Amino acid sequence: MKVEATTKKELIKELQQPHRQTAKLGKSKLERKQAEETLKNSEAKFKELFNTMTSGVAVYEAIDNGEDFVFKDFNHAAEIIENVRGGDVLGKRISEAFPGVEEFGLLKVLQRVWRTGKAEYFPEMFYQDERHRGWRENWIYKLPRGEIVAVYNDITERKQLETEKKELEREAQLSSQLATVGAMASGIAHEINNPLTSVIGFSQLLMTRDIPEDIKSDIAIINDGAQRVASIVKGLLSFARQHQPERSYTDINEIIETTLALRAYELKTNSINVIKQLASDLPLTMADSNQLQQVFLNLIINAETEMKLTSDKHKLTVKTEIAGNTIRISFKDNGPGISSENLEKIFNPFFTTKEVGKGTGLGLSICHGIISEHNGRIYAESDRGKGATFTVELPIVSEESQPALSEPEAEEPEKVSGAKILVVDDEMGVLQYLSHLLSKEGYQIETVDNASDALEMIRRETYNLILTDIKMPDMSGIEFYQRMQKLTQSLAGRVVFIAGNVTEEDVQSFSNKHKVPCISKPFASKKLLKTIARLLAERTQSFDRNTG
Ligand code: ADP
Repeated sequence: MKVEATTKKELIKELQQPHRQTAKLGKSKLERKQAEETLKNSEAKFKELFNTMTSGVAVYEAIDNGEDFVFKDFNHAAEIIENVRGGDVLGKRISEAFPGVEEFGLLKVLQRVWRTGKAEYFPEMFYQDERHRGWRENWIYKLPRGEIVAVYNDITERKQLETEKKELEREAQLSSQLATVGAMASGIAHEINNPLTSVIGFSQLLMTRDIPEDIKSDIAIINDGAQRVASIVKGLLSFARQHQPERSYTDINEIIETTLALRAYELKTNSINVIKQLASDLPLTMADSNQLQQVFLNLIINAETEMKLTSDKHKLTVKTEIAGNTIRISFKDNGPGISSENLEKIFNPFFTTKEVGKGTGLGLSICHGIISEHNGRIYAESDRGKGATFTVELPIVSEESQPALSEPEAEEPEKVSGAKILVVDDEMGVLQYLSHLLSKEGYQIETVDNASDALEMIRRETYNLILTDIKMPDMSGIEFYQRMQKLTQSLAGRVVFIAGNVTEEDVQSFSNKHKVPCISKPFASKKLLKTIARLLAERTQSFDRNTG
């Protein structure tokens, strides 16, 4: 039994032995299998996580002692962001997979992180190659094993929104600055234009006199200077946004041609090669052609002035094209260009880099004012040293949204000599000048420096025409007109306003409504004489018709 028992025990032991061995063997295999399974699962999980991340992830191995990096891994988001297959970059050097990457600053950051082991945030990087261009933000880490990981996002859209927002803010700031200058100009235009009327008027009168040539040329300088002041005031008034441009169907190419023709002599003498790329299918658009000419002229003169500062072969490319529902006009020069710091300021009123006396810093802000009035856009692009491009975008407006087209120039009217004219203005210089000018034309002139006395004179006397200032201390020109009407209806059509600031809305709308011609100070004597002659001729004709 014992033996049996022993044998049995041994037998059991024996029997159990191989079984135990098998179990032992089976267990270690199972564990390995399980471990392999776990590893596989965790790898799959890692891959899944790696490829479902919305951020791009690139893993690099450093080579050349941390000078360059080779792609070891590249997730799905990175493929989408970079528009490249992972298979096309894996195993490649970063500089090979993304040519020019050194220029964009990333390589330097990778090298630094590899050297220091300190993670870095590289908030903004612009990358561009033939596949795509865009902005990235990067987080760069060093793994304990020495590999470098870049986690990054495409922030192109965010950057675009930020740029647009900045642009809008700058626009709003500029508009409010211009409006302030405009409001100030409106306030002082009257004060400046009155004395200017005398300076310009008398200098023009003197130039028609029989005086020595050298004195004439000195007077011409006085006249030019005063005209310049007048145009600055006029420019400043354009910021007041008190008038709409006088629009008619306009051929932009034609304005470009005329403007270039105006500068043909200067462009040639400064050896500026003008290249015209004018689209032949440009539609007409409603615009104020005089104002646009002023804008183009300013851009061309600025380009000329700047190009003269460099010794390169000067080249000005003027291009027109259709861009969506706008007409795009660009002026590209190869002058010294504009620094990014100045690029932000060039449209600000009074910003100039020209010497004192050579620039007012108003040209571009006036251009900005004019183009904004046309609901368009003007902007500049430049890299210092690489020339500048100014672009104007004008909406294609096909329907006439403004009042009638400007009237064709009327024929020179017959002069009605001997007509009696009353001139009312509180400014002595203006009275004297008009008295000289009109007497010389053969009219009988009476002058008075206030509206109340003028009303008395009108009660007593009959005048063929009344020229009146708008802003007078005792009574405004508008009130004077209304009181004149009460005295005698027949004065309608025989009044001319002379205004220091014709852009003032109430003046404009009153003169439009009552069809009273309004001439702004300082005026060209020719324009004034023509208006007077036309009104007198009309009155004579209607008198003839009534009595005939
Ligand atoms: P101004 O001509 O009186 O200086 P603008 O408003 O026309 O006034 O121009 C402002 C400034 O813009 C200039 O002084 C110059 O610094 C810069 N600028 C304008 N056009 C160009 C250009 N084509 N190239 C380089 N700089 C320019």
